[in-house]
Amino acid sequence: MKSFVFPGNIEPEILEIGARQIPYMRTEAFSAIVKECEQIMLELMGCPGGRVIFYTASGTAAMDATVACYVSTRKKALAIAGGSFGHRWHSLCKYYHVPCDVFEVPFAKDIDYEALEKMMQTSQPDVLLCQHHETSSGELFNIDEISRLCKKYNITLVVDAISSFLADSYNMSRSGVDMTIISSQKGLNIPPGLSFIILSSKISEQEFKHLNFYLDFEENLKNLVRGQTPYSPATTIFLQLHARLKMIQKNGIAPILQKIRENALHFRQRCKENNWQIPAETPSNCITGFYVKKDGYAIFKELLKKEIFVMPGGINNFLRVSHLGCQTPEDCDMLAKSIKNIENTL
Ligand SMILES: *Cc1c(COP(=O)(O)O)cnc(C)c1O
Repeated sequence: MKSFVFPGNIEPEILEIGARQIPYMRTEAFSAIVKECEQIMLELMGCPGGRVIFYTASGTAAMDATVACYVSTRKKALAIAGGSFGHRWHSLCKYYHVPCDVFEVPFAKDIDYEALEKMMQTSQPDVLLCQHHETSSGELFNIDEISRLCKKYNITLVVDAISSFLADSYNMSRSGVDMTIISSQKGLNIPPGLSFIILSSKISEQEFKHLNFYLDFEENLKNLVRGQTPYSPATTIFLQLHARLKMIQKNGIAPILQKIRENALHFRQRCKENNWQIPAETPSNCITGFYVKKDGYAIFKELLKKEIFVMPGGINNFLRVSHLGCQTPEDCDMLAKSIKNIENTL
């Protein structure tokens, strides 16, 4: 099986943990694992003195919690929407009745930062919600530029870095980010099922609202002091997370980013040769989104028969290919060749 979707192919060391018996988690040994995970994540995120909340749930739950527990304490939000993930911020705010304006960004385009500044002046939000990488198109936004504007207008910055963390360079203190959301099945390259909120010290010390029982910040933070989650954690995925974080801590983030970038650039070269157009103005390393020449959904289904997984977009003939996980330039060549062959038969 060759996976060009999330989380990508996973190395045997991590997969093997998933085949083991599951230990009891209300123990000192498991607490130590959770606490070490928190400490390494804060290190990798560049968030000294911060806190990490762990949820046994997919990434959207961490976005949900952010709005229910934190954004709801503020008067007004502004969401940057460059695709379906940006619109999800707006939907969550509507769900919890939090006033939220939307700054629309055209598909696969970068933000017009001057227009964003104007919107900040008229909308006067106290919290900004955005994605670092809008995964539906492949477009990477400039967090430093967004952050500069947030500072100027005293707006708290909340970033969904789910598909950019460990694919593109990301550092909370360097970029002045107050709160970050990530999940297990993207850059961490472990199974789906865990999501995380990284709170800077400025945010973690404040009061939160209690609009969601399971995701409640205060209850989760209280339990995490002793290295426990209030409810049953996905124990196995925690063990895989711990093993993954130890690996990253040992070798650093740089080689991971470099490998993903190499694969992305290699595949994009193949796209160019095949006249598959890439719409993203500033593409993230995480995925390549591109237009094929023939029926994209038919290509997706033909690839499935060979156990090659890519993501069909919601848009006609737009395919997305992830570069996360175990992948080599040869894999990218194989994929490009397979797509080309299918195109020729359609
Ligand atoms: C994957 C992803 C999510 C989370 O989606 P889930 O299916 O809930 O894990 C959120 N935001 C972005 C940008 C993503 O890529």
